[in-house]
Amino acid sequence: MDFKLTEEQLAVRDAARDFAQNVLKPGVIERDREQRFPKEEIKELGELGFLGMMVDPKYGGGGMDAVSYVLAMEEISKVDASASVVMSVNNSLVCWGLEEFGTEEQKQKYLVPLAGGEVIGAFCLSEPEAGSDATSQRTTAIDMGDYYLLNGTKNWITNGGSASTYLVIAQTDADKGHRGINCLIVEKGMEGFVVGAKEDKLGIRGSDTHTLMFQDVKVPKENRIGEDGFGFKFAMKTLSGGRIGIASQALGIASGAYELALAYSKERSAFGKVISKHQAIAFKLADMATEIEAARMLCLKAATLKDQGKDYALASSMAKLFSSKVAMEQTVEAVQIHGGYGFVKEYHVERMMRDAKITQIYEGTSEVQKMVISRTLLKD
Ligand SMILES: Cc1cc2nc3c(=O)[nH]c(=O)nc-3n(C[C@H](O)[C@H](O)[C@H](O)COP(=O)(O)OP(=O)(O)OC[C@H]3O[C@@H](n4cnc5c(N)ncnc54)[C@H](O)[C@@H]3O)c2cc1C
Repeated sequence: MDFKLTEEQLAVRDAARDFAQNVLKPGVIERDREQRFPKEEIKELGELGFLGMMVDPKYGGGGMDAVSYVLAMEEISKVDASASVVMSVNNSLVCWGLEEFGTEEQKQKYLVPLAGGEVIGAFCLSEPEAGSDATSQRTTAIDMGDYYLLNGTKNWITNGGSASTYLVIAQTDADKGHRGINCLIVEKGMEGFVVGAKEDKLGIRGSDTHTLMFQDVKVPKENRIGEDGFGFKFAMKTLSGGRIGIASQALGIASGAYELALAYSKERSAFGKVISKHQAIAFKLADMATEIEAARMLCLKAATLKDQGKDYALASSMAKLFSSKVAMEQTVEAVQIHGGYGFVKEYHVERMMRDAKITQIYEGTSEVQKMVISRTLLKD
C-alpha cells in the first residue's frame, strides 16, 4: 500500500477543485432550483479534459489513472453532484466501454469526440420493467441482416436529452436469456428515436434524466459492441467501473457537506461559545471525518486495483455501498449542525442531503451491491 499521491495526481485534484469552486459553485443553487443542466460548465469541463480522463491520448483522452479520476470526482461532487454525474457517466460508462470493447472504427467515430468533451454520451440499460433485474430487457434489437431493428423504452437515462451518443442495451434472442442481449451505439437523430420528458427529481436536479423511446430504429450492424450476445456482460463490466465513479461522487457529496459543517461550527455561537466547542457537535464532526476517510480509502482501493489491472468488481461494489451510506448519513448531520440555516437553500447542505440519496439507488441499489458482494464472498 502506498498512501502517497503523486505530483500529477495532486495537480489533477487541485485543477478539479479550482474548477468546482470558481466555475460550478456560483450558479449551483439556481441550477438546482430551475432544474437547469450545466451546459456551459460541462463544455468547459470537457475542454479541461475531465470528460475522458482515463482514455488513451491517441483517442483524445487525458491518459490519467483511476486514482486521479476519484480525486477529481470528489472535488467536483463536493460542489455540484449534477455536474459530477455527467462526468461519471461519460468517463466510466460510455468512454471506458467504448475504449475497452469497441472496434477501431467505433473508437475513431464515437470515442474521440466523447473523450474530448465535444459531445456527451448516455448509458441506457434501465427500463420501466427492468431496473435491478436488468436481465428482464423488453427492448428488442432484431437482427435484420445488415442492421438491427430497435424497439422499446428506456427510462431514467442520465444525459438523456443532452447526449449525442447512446449505448443501448437490448434483447436480440430471448431464447438465449442474458446471453442473447446486445449493446448498440445509437446516435441522436436516428429515425424513430424520440427523447421523452425530463424527470422532476428530488436531487441532482441539474442533471438531465429522460425516458427514451425507440420505434423501428435501424441501427447499422457495425454499431454493435463486441460479439453477438456480449451486451449483458458489457453492461456488467462497465457498471463495475461506473461504481467507482458513483462511490467517489458520494464521497464528494459527504466531504463537501462536512467541510461546510466544520466551517459553520467554528462561526456559529450558542450558549456563549462557538458550537464546535460543544462536545455533541465536536463528536459529530469526529464521526463524520472518520466515516468519510474510510469511504475515501475504499474508493482509492478500488481505483488502485483498476490501475494495477486487477479485479476491482468487489472493491467497487464495497466502495459504492459504503460511500453512499456515508453520504446519506453525513449530509443529514451537516444539516443538523447548521440548525435552521441548514434547512434553506443558501447554505448548500440541504441540496447535498437531497443529492446524496441517488447514490444509494443508481448504478445498482445498495441491495444490489449487497447481492454482488455476498455472492463473491460465498463463491466456492
Ligand atoms: C436520477 C436517476 C438517474 C439514472 N440514470 C440511469 C442511467 O443513466 N442509465 C440507466 O440505465 N439507468 C439509470 N437509472 C436507473 C437506476 O439504475 C435504477 O433506478 C436502479 O437500478 C433501480 O431500479 P428500479 O428503479 O427499477 O428499482 P427496482 O429494481 O424495482 O427496485 C425497487 C427496490 O427493490 C429492491 N430490490 C430489487 N430486487 C431486489 C432483490 N433481489 N433483493 C433485495 N432487494 C431488491 C431495490 O434495491 C429497491 O430498493 C437512473 C435512475 C435515477 C433515479
